Amino acid sequence: MALVKRKSDNVLLRTALENFYGAAEELKLPDGITDMLAHSERKTCVSIPVEMDDGTIKVFEGYRVAHNSAVGPSKGGVRFHQDVCLDECEALAFMMTWKCSLAGIPYGGGKGGVCVDPTQLSKKELERLSRTYAARIEPVVGAWTDVPAPDMNTNGQIMTWFMDTISRMRGRLEPAIFTGKPIPLWGSKGRNAATGLGVATCAIELMKVLGKDVKGMKCAIQGFGNVGSFTAKTLADAGAKIVAVSDITGTYYCADGINVAKCFELTGASPKRLLSGLEKEPGVTMIHDIQSCECDIFLPCAMEGSITAENAASVKAKYIVEGANGPTTPEADKILDEKGILVVPDFLANSGGVVGSYFEWCQDLGGFFWTEAEYNERLLHIMKENFHRVWDFSKEHNVKMRRAAFLAAIKRVADAAEMRGVYL
Ligand code: NAD
Repeated sequence: MALVKRKSDNVLLRTALENFYGAAEELKLPDGITDMLAHSERKTCVSIPVEMDDGTIKVFEGYRVAHNSAVGPSKGGVRFHQDVCLDECEALAFMMTWKCSLAGIPYGGGKGGVCVDPTQLSKKELERLSRTYAARIEPVVGAWTDVPAPDMNTNGQIMTWFMDTISRMRGRLEPAIFTGKPIPLWGSKGRNAATGLGVATCAIELMKVLGKDVKGMKCAIQGFGNVGSFTAKTLADAGAKIVAVSDITGTYYCADGINVAKCFELTGASPKRLLSGLEKEPGVTMIHDIQSCECDIFLPCAMEGSITAENAASVKAKYIVEGANGPTTPEADKILDEKGILVVPDFLANSGGVVGSYFEWCQDLGGFFWTEAEYNERLLHIMKENFHRVWDFSKEHNVKMRRAAFLAAIKRVADAAEMRGVYL
């Protein structure tokens, strides 16, 4: 029987499936394995009744998807956002499988979320929502089944409520079920900077394989949140010139190089962690947009879909290192390729975050904690090795890095799924 390909109206899921089917065909995967990997193993939908502060009850929809567990427990964040839906969770879980596989860590992909605008909740309402969500997904999460983490609008406090709720339900401490926890609660030193450190490391390694030096390279960084800020700091420490940074307040440009320490000072003092005030620094001007600014390396570290068919032609950088998830639409990717711009794909470049989560899980399972220096050393080792594996594969097979990353990631999971057999 011919393979019936899955389709979706959800743009994220459709893009993820299209990329997957293309790579699966190139790998000549058997139809049965392709079909198994195109489907999620488990999709959990829960309702979450929350008693609001005014005494009324509001019900929210929540989800947890485990895409594939052939190589290990599923791993991925939980987001709280008004646009969360089951298809979005499935697409993100699907991409997590490939990210974990490519990183060489023993996880499959998972993702979850609650359809809620958390800015509309009080702290007590947020706690009740978090605890009830944790209680409702309790049957499907565990250190050896599915390990959630923070994502959009969730943080260490919310992970603590999740862990505490499930620990109480099970009558024992369960620290290894959730990562991204605060340091006193079995969290990990080094996790905060891990994703940015990994993104910057990919940029540095890229320069090395091209026979260049990152020192003096002009970098533009979109987004100055967790990922963008530590990407900027690591690159500046390595001698790169950060000529532009941006956030929701606008794009700040300085031909002589932005003072990254000043950016940290401003965001640290701002309740919403904004860069406003940077325009007052000597030599800094505000420019219209960041993707078209004069630079060597552009690092989108803000949100998905920022490089589109409409703006891709204006990109002046020669290299793009994707810190955000899905910053380049498939149409924009083609335009960048025609312009000869080399792209290091998101699920390689930003995998420092999930590798860091893996370190936290390892430490929690063993109850033995590493120093920040040990954490960073291991992270750098894995990031460099993964970067070079994908680079070498792309050169050997004459394919773009995104394609090379997909092929390597899918092959590892497909081999494991085939060896384990159909009864998973
Ligand atoms: P964050 O919320 O800490 O920071 C986001 C930043 O982007 C903020 O500075 C915000 O002002 C800025 N921003 C938002 N919209 C913008 C716009 N239209 N133009 C310019 N700037 C804008 O988020 P984060 O944790 O840094 O995550 C950023 C991206 O990286 C997301 O795509 C996320 O999924 C991805 N990611 C994060 C991690 C992690 O460990 N935090 C890991 C892997 C991938």
